[in-house]
Amino acid sequence: MVELQESVVVITGAASGMGEAMAHRFAAEGANVVAVDIDTESVDDVVAAVGENAISVHADISDADSTDAVVETAVDEFGTVDVLCNNAGVLDDFTPVGETSDELWDGVLGVNLDGPFYLTRAALPELQSGDDEGVVINTASVAGKAGDGGGAAYTTSKHGLIGLTKNLTTMYAPDIRANAICPGAVKTGMTEGMDDQLNALAADTPAKEPADPEEIASVAAFLASDDASFIHGAAINVDGGMLSDI
Ligand code: NAD
Repeated sequence: MVELQESVVVITGAASGMGEAMAHRFAAEGANVVAVDIDTESVDDVVAAVGENAISVHADISDADSTDAVVETAVDEFGTVDVLCNNAGVLDDFTPVGETSDELWDGVLGVNLDGPFYLTRAALPELQSGDDEGVVINTASVAGKAGDGGGAAYTTSKHGLIGLTKNLTTMYAPDIRANAICPGAVKTGMTEGMDDQLNALAADTPAKEPADPEEIASVAAFLASDDASFIHGAAINVDGGMLSDI
């Protein structure tokens, strides 16, 4: 039982995949949803499908001015930010260090790590306001714990995001409750056209199949709720057991 009535939830990467599933799930739990994405058309479609308690914000989260504007919009529309889901991310095509250009490195780190940093910093005053704790949920990855879940930039960004989650916890708990989710193989826009790779990867895991994005959104809803009140600074595997051997 998740109680999120009237909570204001900001979700990045809400136009597709896990972010889209989170937008639907949080709205279904009674929350007001601020759906953020750089893909303007798709995020507007998601908001239209979610219904009246959702708004879209068109923003590139790798730009600090844009993330400030996200928080301003959330406050203007719904009064505050109670829950921040730093979920948007981009892949690096498993590119090793030697073949990683400055542009690829900066682009991946910009979205996957700078974005959550900028948005968390911008939202801090709102997350700390009010009687209830603010909640931050960062979508990391199994690539945040293992060395072979992506290329150099992606792996580094996800390890960094778990670090940011833990540092937020040590610096701001109990006012803010920050946790990371570490998905394994999930069927989303990111993995579209990679069915063979995804299924092969999943076949090697205890669950034997990739996750649906809703199976990640349900964990985010739990982490945002009071049912998760004693979970601080965790990086929770939602990976079908992929990392169970480390
Ligand atoms: P997705 O591609 O379906 O969705 C990602 C969304 O982020 C897209 O809508 C995209 O437009 C948006 N986005 C990209 N750059 C942006 C920017 N600069 N500003 C704003 N929005 C931007 O991917 P997904 O699989 O749902 O990924 C969600 C998160 O889960 C990502 O952080 C990803 O790294 C992580 N993840 C995915 C998998 C997987 O198997 N799909 C596994 C582990 C972790």
